[in-house]
Amino acid sequence: MPLDPQPSMTCPRCGAPAQPGHGAQTCAKCSASFILLAGAALDGSVTVPLPIPGPASREIAVKSAKMFTYSRGAVGAIGVSEGMTDPVTGMIPLEESGVAYPDIYTIAVWRRPDWVTAIVALLFPVPLGLGLLALAFSSASALVGAIPFLALGGWALYRALGIKRNFVRVAGRWRTIQIRFDKPPWRRNAFYDELLRRSGLPNVPIA
Ligand SMILES: [Zn+2]
Repeated sequence: MPLDPQPSMTCPRCGAPAQPGHGAQTCAKCSASFILLAGAALDGSVTVPLPIPGPASREIAVKSAKMFTYSRGAVGAIGVSEGMTDPVTGMIPLEESGVAYPDIYTIAVWRRPDWVTAIVALLFPVPLGLGLLALAFSSASALVGAIPFLALGGWALYRALGIKRNFVRVAGRWRTIQIRFDKPPWRRNAFYDELLRRSGLPNVPIA
């Protein structure tokens, strides 16, 4: 029995009913900003492109740390998958954890600031860097010491509050999966762009 598509047409943060659209929308209930796109299983006008053999359909994987393990999300040739990595192969079997592109009801995307990382950056590398910078008025070597801390703190703050934590909920005919896709940060856009393209959807900017 396929799943009821109704729960896929909701705000991914609070579950309030929402209509799929083409750009960012704001939830009337929790005021979260998110994107909700209708996939091929919901919208008959969406055509899933056939996988092209070769690099164009290579897998793009993202990883996010759980307490003791890694959760892995991947955009593959025939579907998108999520799960704990197999320690031997590093792969997740699609039939256990994936949604094939033609089976997608909706794709919901949202972001949240990473407050823990931001606070850690403000508690450690940023003050240390600024402290060394203050010392640099009397000692040039303190300036050299300040740079890595300021760079580290700045990068951590940018990751936490600029890029933020990015999530996608893929609701399909047989299951719904959720993937955090901002790690590694340089693979975020490729993961997102390819997820939409392989699902047959036009690209929209991440809200
Ligand atoms: Zn909401």
